[in-house]
Amino acid sequence: MNKKLYVISGSSGVGKGTVLKGFMDRNPSFMLSISCTTRAPRPGEADGVNYFFLSKEEFQNCIDNDKFLEWAEFAGNRYGTKKKYINQCLADGKDIILEIDTKGALQVKKQMPEAVLIFIAPPSLEALEARLRGRHTEDEATIQKRLNEVKVELERAKSFDKTIINDDLERAIAELEAEIKNA
Ligand code: ADP
Ligand code: 5GP
Repeated sequence: MNKKLYVISGSSGVGKGTVLKGFMDRNPSFMLSISCTTRAPRPGEADGVNYFFLSKEEFQNCIDNDKFLEWAEFAGNRYGTKKKYINQCLADGKDIILEIDTKGALQVKKQMPEAVLIFIAPPSLEALEARLRGRHTEDEATIQKRLNEVKVELERAKSFDKTIINDDLERAIAELEAEIKNA
């Protein structure tokens, strides 16, 4: 295992966060990048834990000052990965995981061809929609915006190094572990 930067992407509600939590519980030496976003915190989310929650002005300031390794607009909000933390982890020889959207993932691959891109796919589109709705964190308009992204995300996934289907949660976590250990 000598690859150091792993990027996990997948459609909203597919279970990226859940699979990654399972992975991190078993592999605590991995660093999980905390992104910046302009979206509002969901109940239970905390600044500096789930995201750094920025105003639109603060986010634009980071863009203007070249602070982001990558950033993208997703379903009406902006999301970005700060360069500083990633570069520090890599300099310290730590393995780092980014959980970002497919546009951002392809930007990272361009700059860091050694990055391993892993796409988490749903067992079916029906299951994806049921999970997104079942989470009860988004209103209907937001759910529709997120579902509208799915087709283009699946298209971009063709450029990824690996696709893992999140059917059975434990199986998907085990496959992610195996994939990262063999990378
Ligand atoms: P994402 O981070 O990709 O947006 P989440 O991790 O929040 O998705 O998961 C969305 C919903 O799907 C959550 O309610 C979660 O409990 C559920 N979920 C995740 N993985 C599975 C799975 N393998 N089978 C059934 N439900 C799942
Ligand atoms: P959510 O609002 O559900 O937390 O995230 C929405 C989407 O934004 C997900 O696809 C998630 O992976 C993506 N995302 C989170 N952080 C970043 C980031 O730093 N950069 C990019 N490009 N996408 C991100």
